[in-house]
Amino acid sequence: MKGIEQVGGIPVLLPLTDDSDDISQLADTFDGFLFSGGPDIHPEIYGEFISEGCGEISKQRDDLELFLIKLLLERNKPIFGICRGVQVINVGMGGTLIQDIPTEYKTAVNHSQEKPYHRAVHSVTLSDKLAEMLGESDLNVNSMHHQSIKKLAPQLKIGARSPDGIIEAAYSPDYKFVLGVQWHPEHNLEWHSSNRLFSSFVNACQK
Ligand code: MN
Repeated sequence: MKGIEQVGGIPVLLPLTDDSDDISQLADTFDGFLFSGGPDIHPEIYGEFISEGCGEISKQRDDLELFLIKLLLERNKPIFGICRGVQVINVGMGGTLIQDIPTEYKTAVNHSQEKPYHRAVHSVTLSDKLAEMLGESDLNVNSMHHQSIKKLAPQLKIGARSPDGIIEAAYSPDYKFVLGVQWHPEHNLEWHSSNRLFSSFVNACQK
C-alpha cells in the first residue's frame, strides 16, 4: 500500500468476490492492478497434479485473480505482480509453476528467508529491459517463495534470474505494463529498485 502511495497512487483493496459482473466493473473502474503475495495457485489450473510440496491453496483468490487478469489483458490495463502475483500472471497467460523449489529444484540459494524481510538474501541479474527501468543490472533482493515460474507463458519474457537460474521476474512487451517480480519490494521501500518498480507501475496507470 505504502509503495503505491509514496509514488502518488491511491491504493484500494479489492473485495474477494466471485460475481463476474462486479469483477468486470472493477476492471473498468481502476487504472491498474497490483497482484500481491499469497497462497499457492491450484496446479490443476496449469494442468498438473498437486505435488507433495504444494502449499495452501485459495480457490476464491485463484478464480478472482485469473478472471481479472483475462479482463485486464483485454483492456490493456497495467498489471504489476509481487511474489504470488508474478506466478498468477504467468499461469493466467498460459505458463506453469515449480510447485516446491526445495523438493523439485536443485539449488544452494536460499529463497525462503526468515524475518526480518527487509534483508536481501540473494542476487538477481536483470534483463536489459528491467535494467533500463531500474537503472542497474544486478540487484540484491529478499526472497520468501517456495514456488516459481517453470514454463514461461508465451507472451512473457524473463526479467530477472537468481544465480541458480530461477526466474525472479517476468514482463510482457505486448502490453502497456505487465510486470511481476518474485521478491518483495514492499518490505524495503528505501531500495532504489523498489521505488522504480512502483513508480513505473503508477506512471503506466496514469497513461
Ligand atoms: Mn528468490
